[in-house]
Amino acid sequence: MDIEGHRGARGLVVENTLPSMAAALDAGVTGIEIDVRMTADGQLVVWHDPVLLPEKCRAPRGGLVGARVDELTLDQLRTVDVGSQTLPEFATQRAAPGAQIATLAEVIALGEHRSSQLWWTIEVKLDPTDERQVARRERLVEATLAAVHEVGVERRCFLHSFDWAVLDLARELAPDVLRSALTQARHFSTGSPWTGSVDPAEHGEDVIAGVAAIGASVVSPDFALVDADLVRRAHDLDISVLTWTVNEPDDLVRMMELGVDGIVTDYPDLAVELVAARSRGDAPGNAPGDAFQGR
Ligand code: MG
Repeated sequence: MDIEGHRGARGLVVENTLPSMAAALDAGVTGIEIDVRMTADGQLVVWHDPVLLPEKCRAPRGGLVGARVDELTLDQLRTVDVGSQTLPEFATQRAAPGAQIATLAEVIALGEHRSSQLWWTIEVKLDPTDERQVARRERLVEATLAAVHEVGVERRCFLHSFDWAVLDLARELAPDVLRSALTQARHFSTGSPWTGSVDPAEHGEDVIAGVAAIGASVVSPDFALVDADLVRRAHDLDISVLTWTVNEPDDLVRMMELGVDGIVTDYPDLAVELVAARSRGDAPGNAPGDAFQGR
C-alpha cells in the first residue's frame, strides 16, 4: 500500500512548501504528490493554482497577489510568502512562516536526502481549456521529464495529469517513465477536452479502457469513483489504482479494503497508522482512526 502525502502533507503543514514535504516524510509516507507549473522564465515550481491566491499568499504591498504564476519569474515568485496563511478547512494545518515557492529540484532534493526509496507523483498542471497553458504544454512536459532525469528519479516517479495530452506527449518523449492518468467525474466523457488522443466514445466511456488506450500504468480517480468493479477491471489490465484525496478514517479503511494500490491523502500520519494497524490485524476502524476523530 503506497501512502502518498498530498501536496506534501496539506492537513499538517501549509501545502506545497518544503516544511509540508518534511511533515509527509516524518509521517512515514512511501510517496509524495506534488503539482508542477512553469514560471515565465522557464523554471519548474511546485505550486497548485494557476494564480497566487490571496488566501494562500502574502506579497509586499500585496502587489503580486492574484497574478498568474506563468507570467512571473522565479525571482518575482520568491518575494511571496506562501507559508504564513493557513486554510480554515484544515484545522490542524500549521503555518510555515516565510516559506517561499520551491522549485521541483529543491523539493525532490529534500525528499532524496531523507530516503532513496520514495516515490514521486509529479502532477503536470495543465488546463486544456486555457489556450495560454496549451501553447506551453510541450515545453512543460519536456522540462519536467528533463528534471526527473537530472535528479535521477526517473525510475521512481509517475508523470501524473488530468490532461491526458500531457500523457501522450510523455509517452512519445520518454516512454520508460511511468504515467498516471488522473480522472474525476465527467472528465472521461464524449467531447471532453481532458482525454488527449483517446476518444471516450470509442471505449464506451469506460475510463479503465481509456487509461489502457493512453498507455498509462496507473489510473488515479477521485475516491468517489472507486468501487470493487473499477479496482478489478484496472487490475485485470495490469493498471494500478492510486486514489485521492482520502482524508476520513472510514474512507481510508474502505479504500484499503477495496484493494487500491495507493492513496493520496492530506493526513499521511493517519493513513500510515491505519496501514500499520491493518497489518497488525487490528479491526478496521479501531483505535488508530479514533484518535483522529474530532480533528
Ligand atoms: Mg495535485
